[in-house]
Amino acid sequence: MTDCIFCKIVAGDIPANKVYEDEEFLAFHDIAPKADTHVLVIPRRHIVNLNDLGEDDGALMGKLMLTIPHIAATQNLTGYRTITNTGAEGGQEVFHLHFHILGGRALPGF
Ligand code: 5GP
Repeated sequence: MTDCIFCKIVAGDIPANKVYEDEEFLAFHDIAPKADTHVLVIPRRHIVNLNDLGEDDGALMGKLMLTIPHIAATQNLTGYRTITNTGAEGGQEVFHLHFHILGGRALPGF
């Protein structure tokens, strides 16, 4: 999507502080961190949010879940919080599916 900021990061059109990448996913530091460590992991493919997933995306999402601990380990995080916001009412501001990985010090429970 041409007007999607995360697609522009995937394309290399705007810079990002990357911590992980493979054929399907990219992870980079959030530009406005809400924790000592705040990394975003995204699929390279433009998917709006969880509501935009199709029946065929199960394997992709399973792989994403399996990749998150590896990305957390690159930041020396053993404990962390993983969040995805869905839709404006869910607090989503960037409409390209992303999971926040937050950590770096003990987080309060919900
Ligand atoms: P959302 O509210 O959509 O779940 O989270 C979007 C996140 O993307 C926010 O935490 C925001 O700071 C981050 N963000 C927005 N624009 C950029 C950008 O251009 N680069 C990076 N690295 N993060 C961004």
